[in-house]
Amino acid sequence: MEIRTFTGGGFGENGYLAICGTSLTCVAIDPGAAAGQMAQEIRGHDLDLEAVLLTHAHLDHIEGVHEIRAIAPDVPIWLHPDDLGMYRGVQKQAAMFGLRVPTQPEPTDTIVPGQPFHFGSCSFEVRFAPGHAPGHVIFYAPDHSLALVGDVVFQGSIGRTDLPGGDFRTLMTSIRTEVLSLPDDTVLYTGHGPTTTVGHERLGNPFLVPHYGGDLA
Ligand SMILES: [Zn+2]
Ligand SMILES: [Zn+2]
Repeated sequence: MEIRTFTGGGFGENGYLAICGTSLTCVAIDPGAAAGQMAQEIRGHDLDLEAVLLTHAHLDHIEGVHEIRAIAPDVPIWLHPDDLGMYRGVQKQAAMFGLRVPTQPEPTDTIVPGQPFHFGSCSFEVRFAPGHAPGHVIFYAPDHSLALVGDVVFQGSIGRTDLPGGDFRTLMTSIRTEVLSLPDDTVLYTGHGPTTTVGHERLGNPFLVPHYGGDLA
């Protein structure tokens, strides 16, 4: 599996294309402000896009869904139901930041944690990790030692929990059970900033090491 990163916008959000081996089958994860470039990449390399997968429905992670749909009108859009209200309220979210965004196409498929997602010969394990957002999920590819973790954890930081539906203790539990339970060499592709690894965050993330109260994790 190859992961390509598309970063953009005032939030510096990372959208990802996960391409399965040599089959050119791919999925678009969290198409945000740089979704136009993502769409160009899909078209330019004639990739076979199987789905849009959303870790959660915050504005910055979904504002480009319509740009992917523009080049792939039938592509399914997968979201956890607990984030559907936020997804439909994308314009309300944008207004909170003084921004405007178009209405996004309605999700077509319901993410069920524990049910794997297959594309080409690749697959993701889907892990439920609420706390930053109520319906946040993580896409984990054990065969490729990588996970797309959205805004659950970042290099040296964790997701904010002050937005509607956020909860600090729930987030810390999610990090402990769904992220720190992965092997240390698992590469984490985060919603903002650089990639990191489970081992790196276990040892050095100030929110997770015991000295700073990370005993919660
Ligand atoms: Zn978020
Ligand atoms: Zn984000």
